[in-house]
Amino acid sequence: MSSILGSCHCGRVKWESIGDIETVVRCYCSICRKTQGGDYGVWVVVPAKGFSILEGADHINKYEGTNVSSKKYCSVCGTTVHCTNGNHYPGYMLLARGTIDEGNELSTKIQVYTQHKYEWIDVLKDSPAVF
Ligand SMILES: [Zn+2]
Ligand SMILES: [Zn+2]
Repeated sequence: MSSILGSCHCGRVKWESIGDIETVVRCYCSICRKTQGGDYGVWVVVPAKGFSILEGADHINKYEGTNVSSKKYCSVCGTTVHCTNGNHYPGYMLLARGTIDEGNELSTKIQVYTQHKYEWIDVLKDSPAVF
């Protein structure tokens, strides 16, 4: 059982996740690239039932990316609060590692959609590619 805290860049929205971390996934898909603005997304997968907003709920907006995936974000600074992926992780929330206050402690465990990565990005040697 662990507790992790996250917050957006402007500081208006703060959240907490209580419960065992399922995994930490680096995803190379095009949705992660677009919605996170990076070469890949890195997600800390936590049980949805242990997630709660501590401050700033009024500032959260929702974007429905697909019929099973959505993203909530701070309407002031745009930082991702969490995503859901009903396809691969029903019942879980995906927290962007960069938004977690102690993200340095959460190293990547698995990789997915490596076939979609930019060709000049090296996959991690010690993390299995699972789909
Ligand atoms: Zn913010
Ligand atoms: Zn992805």
